[in-house]
Amino acid sequence: MKVIRAKSAGFCWGVERAVQVARDEAQGGKKTVYTDGPLIHNRQMMSALSSEDIREVGDYQSQSELDLSKKEDKESVLVVRAHGISPERRKYLRGLGLPFRDGTCPDVGIIAGKVKVHADRGYDVVIFGDPEHPEVIGLMGYAKGKSHVVRNLTELASLPPFKGGVALVSQSTMFTHEFKEVSRKLSEIYPDIAVFDTICGATKERQSDLVGLVEGGAEAIVVIGGKHSANTRKLAKLAAEQQKPTYHIETFKDLDLDSLKKFQTVGVTAGASTPEFIIREVCEKLEKLEP
Ligand code: SF4
Repeated sequence: MKVIRAKSAGFCWGVERAVQVARDEAQGGKKTVYTDGPLIHNRQMMSALSSEDIREVGDYQSQSELDLSKKEDKESVLVVRAHGISPERRKYLRGLGLPFRDGTCPDVGIIAGKVKVHADRGYDVVIFGDPEHPEVIGLMGYAKGKSHVVRNLTELASLPPFKGGVALVSQSTMFTHEFKEVSRKLSEIYPDIAVFDTICGATKERQSDLVGLVEGGAEAIVVIGGKHSANTRKLAKLAAEQQKPTYHIETFKDLDLDSLKKFQTVGVTAGASTPEFIIREVCEKLEKLEP
């Protein structure tokens, strides 16, 4: 079978960087590294990192209190994930008294900066994103109570009327075409709205590469990544929107080989938190498949 792999498949630079921060601190297990929630949304990679004593504490949304009372017989350090955290959470984590390293993706830092600057000026800030996602929870913390999160066009109807300035930003992993629709609709109501397309470059590249797979002849798309990874789920949704059979899998073990072998050419992409070894295994398995 011919396999076309998307160039952007796998770790984005922000995830790569956060993993590197944690690994540098862990020094192969010499120190214990605690991450405030799962460092990346991929169970296989989390399990690989645990062998270097990189441990998830707290919860997915970085909201619960951390129990660090169990004394380790070696040094330990606290690392913040690529999603970032709110200023309040930062204060709490710093107060725990452990050495602190910040793995927040600089692209998320830019969004936080836009939210903060506009909230400081008295703007209402609309965040296009998922209110349950840790990145958005962190961003809301910069808005001084003036943030409003919408997931789609329909939810715009539930926004209160704004009397002063309005700014619009996006969670880094949203669809560009949907952001444009939200921005167009809000601009009709608030012509002076400050619009910031803060969908990151890595996300845009993944989305356009996926469309490129179909243009390159892929008859079906395999999307690799955690079932709970927001950006992988979005890629799977975008793949299905291309009117091609779509298979969202976590590892090669989930491949439906019987169903896939009817295709001559299959496109493969992967979420921003999918490690290279998993992508390689899937591609190798598919390449060996006889149509
Ligand atoms: S998806 Fe984008 S914003 Fe999020 S960690 Fe990766 S590069 Fe950074």
